[in-house]
Amino acid sequence: SYRKMLTNAANFINDYDNFLIVSHVNPDGDTISSSLAMAHLLKSLGKSFTLVNENVIPQKYSFLTGANEISLISEMDENEKFSYVITIDVADKKRAGEIDYLLTSDVKLLNIDHHPTNDKFGDVNLVLPTAAATAEVVYDLVKEMNAAIDKELATYIYTGLLTDTGGFRYSNTTSKVMRIAAELLDHDISPSNIAEITLETMTKSFLNLLKIALDKLEVVLDGRIAWTTLTLADLSDDNNSDNTEGIVNYTRNIEGVEVGILFKEVKDNQFKVSIRSKRFIDVGDIAKSFGGGGHMRAAGFTYEGTLESIKEKIVNKIRQTKGWQQLEKESDI
Ligand code: 5GP
Ligand code: MN
Ligand code: MN
Repeated sequence: SYRKMLTNAANFINDYDNFLIVSHVNPDGDTISSSLAMAHLLKSLGKSFTLVNENVIPQKYSFLTGANEISLISEMDENEKFSYVITIDVADKKRAGEIDYLLTSDVKLLNIDHHPTNDKFGDVNLVLPTAAATAEVVYDLVKEMNAAIDKELATYIYTGLLTDTGGFRYSNTTSKVMRIAAELLDHDISPSNIAEITLETMTKSFLNLLKIALDKLEVVLDGRIAWTTLTLADLSDDNNSDNTEGIVNYTRNIEGVEVGILFKEVKDNQFKVSIRSKRFIDVGDIAKSFGGGGHMRAAGFTYEGTLESIKEKIVNKIRQTKGWQQLEKESDI
């Protein structure tokens, strides 16, 4: 049960020290904030830790205290070994990227997450699939350990909740999320500042990339699927951002569209695919069938092959789902 998982996670933290805190590749607001919240909790318990990610933390998250202390795996001492690892918002070991060489069977691993597709790779797993964000799970752990919430911790948890619910708009926005958020607002944090920085502000280079993505956007399958592609050239152009967070939403948000997809070229014949749905299609299932994962309404995977072949495969997959049949039934009425 979740209660038992919380007890086990608290014991893990109490029993050990010198933790490696691992967040997922191409870090988003939840994995960054929840890692910092975890570090904050450990600090308050007098424990030491090292924060690590495969990628550079996007500049916009630098308002989070300690974001600049998250090390790049490529810059870490290869001989440094960690016995105790905590993964945050990491659904499977692959999501840790290059860091997975530190996640051997010799280490004790605490896996804290909220993805329904999490494969429970930890020695201790604290996974709540109904949670809106890993930040919600970390909040529960903070309460379990009777740790105090201060402004800094409140900012971290709020940021994780805000970003993973798309500003408290997605279907994962529960009454529990709202209650936690309300409690956090009592700690003098600024919801307008956090929303402006994480959700509203677009850099010019991001706008350039968005323009390209919108220009290439196509609507297919009777207006039910919309997709766009960003190539290596688009992403490496100095005028354009290399951050694509949020771009896929523009495909899904089109009237009548059920599934929105972004194909992001990461190498020759290799694509990072982001999928979003509105009401019918479980895109977590679809991503899982391609070796990735995620949630019902937001998921992703990496694909090896041509753009044409993935387009064909994904359309076939979508048409085979129960959700698609329901959608067709509903449109007949
Ligand atoms: P995004 O499309 O923004 O990269 O990710 C959307 C959701 O799907 C996130 O919850 C993310 O954790 C999950 N996701 C994206 N790519 C992968 C992947 O390759 N493997 C797994 N397991 N989950 C993914
Ligand atoms: Mn995430
Ligand atoms: Mn998350």
